[in-house]
Amino acid sequence: MSLPPCPQCNSEYVYQDQNNLVCPECAYEWNPADTSLEEQPITAKDANGTELTEGDKVTLIKDLKVKSSSQVLKIGTKALIRRIVEGKDHELDCRVDGAGEMMVTAKFVKKA
Ligand SMILES: [Zn+2]
Repeated sequence: MSLPPCPQCNSEYVYQDQNNLVCPECAYEWNPADTSLEEQPITAKDANGTELTEGDKVTLIKDLKVKSSSQVLKIGTKALIRRIVEGKDHELDCRVDGAGEMMVTAKFVKKA
């Protein structure tokens, strides 16, 4: 029996833990018998209200300070959404050009 890839990050290194499948790369855990998750992908809205989904390319619409560092991400910097995390605000887990992986607030980006 082969396991499906992780629905969050498409990792192939999923393993089974009792009734759940677990992704070692993003720590996502789900029950493969519950398919409702796949029908309702988490989305977020950018500064213009455009819906963003995982894998979208975005650009920053303002300079953003990086938490716990003196680095500043400049307006216009490109980023790729790796994952959307549902929280108080929708937060984007992005791979940012020249800065690496970090969380970016959806309202500070626009779809490229
Ligand atoms: Zn994963």
